[in-house]
Amino acid sequence: MGYKEQLNYFALKETVTINEKDHLEIAGVDTIDLANKYGTPLVIYDIKTVRNNIEEFKNALATYPSEYEISYASKAFSSIAMYQVLDQENISVDVVSGGELFLAKEAGFPSEKIHFHGNNKSYQELVAALDYEIGHIIVDNFHELKMLEQLTKKREQKIKVIIRVTPGVTADTHKYIMTGHTDSKFGFDLKNGQAEEAVRLAQKSEFLELSGLHMHIGSQIFGTESYVLAMDQVLRSAKEWYISFGFQMKVLNIGGGFGIQHTPDDEAVSVKRQVETISQELVKLLDLYDLAYPILQIEPGRSIVGTAGTTIYEIGSKKAIPGIRNYISIDGGMSDNIRPAMYNSKYFASLANRMKDERTTKVSVAGKACESGDMLIMDLDLPEVKAGDKLAVFHTGDYAFAMASNYNRIPRPAVVFVENGREFLSIRREEVKDFMRFENHLPVDF
Ligand SMILES: *Cc1c(COP(=O)(O)O)cnc(C)c1O
Repeated sequence: MGYKEQLNYFALKETVTINEKDHLEIAGVDTIDLANKYGTPLVIYDIKTVRNNIEEFKNALATYPSEYEISYASKAFSSIAMYQVLDQENISVDVVSGGELFLAKEAGFPSEKIHFHGNNKSYQELVAALDYEIGHIIVDNFHELKMLEQLTKKREQKIKVIIRVTPGVTADTHKYIMTGHTDSKFGFDLKNGQAEEAVRLAQKSEFLELSGLHMHIGSQIFGTESYVLAMDQVLRSAKEWYISFGFQMKVLNIGGGFGIQHTPDDEAVSVKRQVETISQELVKLLDLYDLAYPILQIEPGRSIVGTAGTTIYEIGSKKAIPGIRNYISIDGGMSDNIRPAMYNSKYFASLANRMKDERTTKVSVAGKACESGDMLIMDLDLPEVKAGDKLAVFHTGDYAFAMASNYNRIPRPAVVFVENGREFLSIRREEVKDFMRFENHLPVDF
């Protein structure tokens, strides 16, 4: 089988197959039938893959000799039904705004398993978190620490907190998704003493119960060295603070950021190997510093939902510039997936209605927004395409729909879950008339 032919089989697995009509089928559901029923663009989540990805983390973390907690970073993708799936799998979630907290609550997600992040939580958001009695607030800065101290005192309510530190480690990833370096908007700096001050303040607070420390070095990271370097920095400080003022790190949160494969050219990854290595290295460091084994919290987002998502578009116009480029246009783009424009992210796609056709042409896939930068995929090998063909873009479950916008007044797509031959509409498609929910006509006397 040649390379171009092999490409037809990228992303196929136990749940993703090609059926007798030569259509892409996910969890036993024909994606062309789904596109016909719900319209395009359509985001499809293969829920068995979400469950398998969670299982992989559980298996890897089972090697850690103390307790662990997996807390899904909901910003990668959230919906009521997704929170319910995560609850079925018995894991926790991170929220980063009042909106995510609201949705998790509406889903009936257990409050003690919700943890709240963010570099500028508002007063109202902190009140909402206290009202719902969530598990942890991950405190990011002195402004928040002070506000929380005052609020909990006023309410005479205790809340568990974790101090987010910036370990001063540069992760090997795009600078927009790097977070652990010193010049970062997130967390208390470890090197200049601010982290220590925050820990001291939280420790002596009457209503804040300090559980431990948090670090998150960035996203789409494939190696383990930057995690190990950052953990070393954090543990070294934890030990110093233990000696100087009796700080006890009951929880260590090492963040998320585990990379996934988006295209056949990306390195194949094993989250299991990555997480097992990090866990083993953590144990070595804990032994080295003679620290008790904390509860290990981990916050994967992308690596839980990324490979579970497929987006189906309909192909419309074409433009051939001889000797330069063949453009094909789809009925979505940066309004439902801004990652190529923002991070230069790469994707891979197939014709969902003609999966096995030979890839004989090279095309670039343009979105429909009025931006030259709205290009979803450059230089993709595809069969000769015609208007009406359906394009399946793989591994779009992470930060695509989650970052969708109404730019150009394009309505957001629908999101469908599939599992065991069944489909379920998690989020209905927006319609242009939904825009009227926010609009007012100018009064005659204005
Ligand atoms: C975004 C984020 C995560 C999740 O990152 P992924 O790359 O999706 O795994 C985890 N923790 C924090 C604090 C984050 O900001």
